[in-house]
Amino acid sequence: MSEPPENHLPEDMLELYALDRLSGEEWAAGGQHLAGCSLCRDRLEEIKAYIATMREALRRIADAGEER
Ligand SMILES: [Zn+2]
Repeated sequence: MSEPPENHLPEDMLELYALDRLSGEEWAAGGQHLAGCSLCRDRLEEIKAYIATMREALRRIADAGEER
């Protein structure tokens, strides 16, 4: 038990972090937490994988629309 749960990064922040949409301040704070928290790093990896899957699906839909 190293840190209380309320210290962990919220899901929406991890999402924005994965998308590179955080402000410099939030990004720095998030990066600092991630550097010391493997739990949030694991969650970030999951979110990144999810985003990659979504992007791949969207690209396939776009490709299918362009073909015709
Ligand atoms: Zn954490």
